[in-house]
Amino acid sequence: MMTGRFRVRCPGCGNVTDINTDIPCPKCGNTLAPMGAEIKLYRMGSPIGVAIGFGVYIDGQPCGHIGNKETVSYSVPFGTHNVRMTAGMSRKCVDMTLTLTPQAPVGYLKAHIKPGFISNTVVIEPAMPQDMPL
Ligand SMILES: [Zn+2]
Repeated sequence: MMTGRFRVRCPGCGNVTDINTDIPCPKCGNTLAPMGAEIKLYRMGSPIGVAIGFGVYIDGQPCGHIGNKETVSYSVPFGTHNVRMTAGMSRKCVDMTLTLTPQAPVGYLKAHIKPGFISNTVVIEPAMPQDMPL
């Protein structure tokens, strides 16, 4: 059973909302509810680009931003999901694909920024539950 606070993308209109219980989408009224599986995404602290919000894309769909040292729990359906992040103007990302099942419903990921000569790259890696600051 999922508890806590989740970020969900409305299946109707695509609006991204943080919920802790089933609520109607503030934009279209569709019911927003936890969807069974969960991706916990931790943005590791970094002195580079601290002020830049990382844009999060799950399965190619924009899913809001994540701040420095922030952890966000995304509620997603069971299945295989691609997670990608962008840092400011940079579209470079080492993205991650993970499969969530009823036997393994929670995916842990951590992300950090790797500085480059021309632009920075966001690197997303698998994480352990104890890596999470929560
Ligand atoms: Zn909606």
